[in-house]
Amino acid sequence: MAQIDTLPPLREVIATHGLDAKKSLGQNFLLDLNLTSRIARSAGDLNGVTVLEVGPGPGGLTRAILAAGADRVIAIEKDTRCLPALAEISNHYDGKLEVISEDALKIDPTSLGISGPIKIIANLPYNVGTQLLINWITTENWPPFWTSLTLLFQKEVGERIVAKPGSKAYGRLGVLASWRCQSGMLFDIGPQAFTPPPKVTSAVVHLVPTHSPLPCDLNILEKITAAAFGQRRKMLRASLKSLGKPPEPLLETAGIEPTTRAEQVDVEGFVRIANAYAAS
Ligand code: SAM
Repeated sequence: MAQIDTLPPLREVIATHGLDAKKSLGQNFLLDLNLTSRIARSAGDLNGVTVLEVGPGPGGLTRAILAAGADRVIAIEKDTRCLPALAEISNHYDGKLEVISEDALKIDPTSLGISGPIKIIANLPYNVGTQLLINWITTENWPPFWTSLTLLFQKEVGERIVAKPGSKAYGRLGVLASWRCQSGMLFDIGPQAFTPPPKVTSAVVHLVPTHSPLPCDLNILEKITAAAFGQRRKMLRASLKSLGKPPEPLLETAGIEPTTRAEQVDVEGFVRIANAYAAS
């Protein structure tokens, strides 16, 4: 195992602080600092950067981010049992780590007063990961407060984020992500890398905000994709009826055949439907 700092190995940290993994908190810890360093490196150069990490747990990824040269790490952790272990990391790295003991879903990162570039890097708890991603890519202001997201998800979620039209994984999440971001899946991580091992493979996903997404009202876009993918096997002329406006004229304005199904429509197509709906 790589020696990235002189802090104790993570197994020892977990034993010392009694950090038995809790399923209810989505705790699957990464104990291999080679691997956490690889994830940190995937976020690019961290010099001069503030990293926001959700769910540092015993701190394996946190240590890798600090060792990779981040100026500052702000980590939001719900499990108070992890705080003493994280305090040791903060001491070791001259206070560059600040821990917020909270539920990440309750924190508005823009209220933290962070200046300069912010990268978000996290091995997300599976039960709140998708919601956090949606929060980050639906912020009102765009470009957003972050310059990149480097996130570890269950692979199935990663596939939905990067999905392209025509694929089974393509849905609301894929449309939203590719409307506002460039995204890619970087590499897989097998269950055996985690303690305890989850049932499924995970993957690291990287997203960078697109500076000028196609103009469109976010709420309307979400409404259209919810209707379209809510009945994904149906043709749009049927699935969009739930919008409460006749679908045919909207589809005609958008230049989309009424017999098309949701999974065949690309982001540009959904934006055209949303704009036709807004204008109708
Ligand atoms: N970063 C560590 C690693 O890679 O080994 C732990 C990752 S583990 C998959 C998820 C972490 O998120 C746990 O430490 C858990 O306590 C924390 N967590 C779960 N729900 C949370 C929430 N709503 N807000 C903040 N942290 C949360």
